This record gives sequence, C-alpha cells and structure tokens, in this order.
Amino acid sequence: MKIVLYKVLIFLKIHRLFQYVNRNTIIILMYHGFTDHDHRGVENYLGFHIPKSAFEKQLQYLQKDYNIISLKKAVDIIKNKKKIPKNSIVLTIDDGYNSNYSLAYPIIKKLRAPATIFLTTSFVDEQKFLWVDRLEYAINNTKEEKLNIDNNKYILSDTNTKLDCVRSIKSKLKKIKPGKRMVILEGIENELGAKLNSNNAPDIYRPLSWNKIKEMKQSGLVNFGSHTHTHPILSQCNKKQIKNELLFSKNLLEREIGIKCNDFAYPNGQPEDFSEEVVGCLKRINYKCALTTVAGKNNPDTNLYKLKRYPVSNRDDLVEFKIILSGISSFLNKIKNLI
Ligand SMILES: [Zn+2]
Repeated sequence: MKIVLYKVLIFLKIHRLFQYVNRNTIIILMYHGFTDHDHRGVENYLGFHIPKSAFEKQLQYLQKDYNIISLKKAVDIIKNKKKIPKNSIVLTIDDGYNSNYSLAYPIIKKLRAPATIFLTTSFVDEQKFLWVDRLEYAINNTKEEKLNIDNNKYILSDTNTKLDCVRSIKSKLKKIKPGKRMVILEGIENELGAKLNSNNAPDIYRPLSWNKIKEMKQSGLVNFGSHTHTHPILSQCNKKQIKNELLFSKNLLEREIGIKCNDFAYPNGQPEDFSEEVVGCLKRINYKCALTTVAGKNNPDTNLYKLKRYPVSNRDDLVEFKIILSGISSFLNKIKNLI
C-alpha cells in the first residue's frame, strides 16, 4: 500500500517539490555491504547487503538529480557555515566488508562518486568476523532443530522460527557487555555445531584487507574513518574502554594507510548508544566529526558530532529511495505522529 502511494507521488512529481524545498540540506546515506546473488534462510535478512545493481542505479540517480560531495567537504561546509551546494549527498559505508571493494568500488570508480568507509579495525586487522554475522550464520546453518540458551528455548524448524530466534537473541546480546556476549555466542555456536570461519564464510561476511583499503585510498575517491576497534556499543563501555576503542582504531588506521583519521561513526549509532562522555573523548583525541544512525538531514546548525544519516537497505528500490531522499517519508511520519 505504501509503495502504491509512493509511486503515485513520484508519478505526480511531488518528490521534486520536496526536493526543491529541502535543497539547502546535506543528506548522508549509510550503506553496509553489497551482494551479487540471492540469499537463503536468514542470511542477510535485514537487507544490509544490497544488490550491486541497485547500488549502481541509486548512484546513477544521485548523479543526475543530486550533488554527491565528500564527507570532508560536508564537514567543512557545516563547520565554516558555508553555502551548501544544492541537494548535497554524502555516501558512507559502515563496518569494512570486503564487498565494499569487490562489488561497490568498481561502481564508485566508474561513476567517480566519492565515499567514506568506516572501518571496525579488528574486523580488518585480525580478520575477526562480526558477532552479529556469527550469530546469523550459526542459526542459518545449523542442523539442530532447537536451541536452549540461558533458560530460553527456541525452535529452529524453518526460516520463520529461525528469524524469531536471531532477532530475539540479537536484541538480548546487544544489551550485555562484550566479554560476556562473546562467551554466550561461543556457547550458541557450540550447541548448534555451526561456526563462521574463514573456510566456510559466505562472501557477504568477509572483511576488507589493508591492501584493498590502500588501493581504494590511492584512487582519491574513497576515504576512511574509524568505527571503533571492536564495534562495542560505547554507552556500555567505561571511560578507559571508550578511549581505547577511539584511539587504538585511529592510530592503527593512520599507521596502516598513512592518512589522518578525522571521521568517526558510532556503532549502532542511536542516541542511547553513545554519551556526552564519548563526544568529549572524540574531541580530545582530535576527531573532527561523528556520524549517528539517527535518520534526518543536516544543515549548518547540525552538531558535527551528531551528524544524521539515512540507512539504505535492499528494500529500498528506486521508488523508496527517491521518497526518502526527497523528505516525503519524514514528512509523512511527522503527520502520522500528529494524528
Ligand atoms: Zn557497524
């Protein structure tokens, strides 16, 4: 129903009107990974890995109707209250998946579109898989039909029950400290007899290597920022852990690829996932900006340490993509909240 409404609005060119009204804002888009094949079961159930063909179509649309600028330029505009180039868009990609290089980079090069990739440095440096992917893999690939963990019983008989299980365990694990989370995750992997490793990993879960990162850096089109070292939710960390996560990843990145690491993206990125303590630490160790996952547009008054972004997932075909960018969807949400 929503899509039908969106199609009508696009047919009537209402999105153009909204695009014009919102022309003096900076939109930052957030991608994660990319894919070139279909997925089975719960693999990629959130649609974080978008088809490369959809990515190419989106960039072509942006090049035609928007102005793709680098994050560096956007920060300079906001910091110095400069005039925003009409309909500015910034491309960002979180985590550091190998598909950023194998599938997205050829398109970025072909279309000469600048982008910033936020690296979880332990994922790249130690080739350690992300815990969310390990959980998704274990539940998707197990031969077991049930799982008993921490007095909770889950049925794993089909995709729907597996999806319920992934969602429920993921939200529980997000709330506990990283050390304990890893112990529970290993327990789940053992019980299910399925553990993501470099021999069995589907392409979508694999991390980038420093060599590929350097090659992208040398193109001048891709810049890199930190997404912490181990991807913890920073509001759950103590002062020392926060400093370690922010500083270690910055130093490692600067040493490995010879850049000044000025940009940061908060893991999970919602207001409850970071604190003023984290913002203070970012400033002290000389990060120039930090990006959240709070949806919205940016303007010269936006706090540089609370930049807003719109997530792009594989449900966002060009219809939804056009509606989100234009600002119609936030407008409709506001109306819905008023009613
Ligand atoms: Zn992330």
